[in-house]
Amino acid sequence: MPMFVDTSPPGQCIFCRLVAGEIPSAKVYEDALTIAFMDIGQVTPGHVLVATKRHAATLLDTTPEEAATLMQTARRVALAVRTAFDPPGLTLLQANGALGGQTVAHVHLHVVPRHEDDGITFTWPRQEPPAAVLAGYAERLRAAL
Ligand code: AMP
Ligand code: ZN
Repeated sequence: MPMFVDTSPPGQCIFCRLVAGEIPSAKVYEDALTIAFMDIGQVTPGHVLVATKRHAATLLDTTPEEAATLMQTARRVALAVRTAFDPPGLTLLQANGALGGQTVAHVHLHVVPRHEDDGITFTWPRQEPPAAVLAGYAERLRAAL
């Protein structure tokens, strides 16, 4: 299955248009800050996207309240997915930037029901550096907090 290609003209974000009701969606839930709707790609049946209502390109552009509400909505949707579809597994995915795997530049979180041999693959090249390297990384991050 190819990746989704966003052909929206600049300034006409596809999810902003969806939030505004300018394009159709199969809506699942909304509150003041977030909206949940079916992903047109349906990687597995029940695949939902949770997005901010306000345009924010990535997680790093959200307010703390938006970020918290995104996860609260994802949790609500995940519980509904369990009730409605009862998948044996569930993966949350949130991509930021093209190199992070993001194809629509409006922050969103995937709620994906998972099944045996569902065709989803994710390579994760473990490096296992020495403890001193880990300590150095942690020090850099503590200084940046
Ligand atoms: P990502 O690659 O994480 O940015 O995910 C973007 C997702 O948006 C893809 O899975 C698309 O299938 C989905 N998508 C794009 N346009 C729409 C739309 N109009 N309604 C629902 N889902 C959409
Ligand atoms: Zn947008």
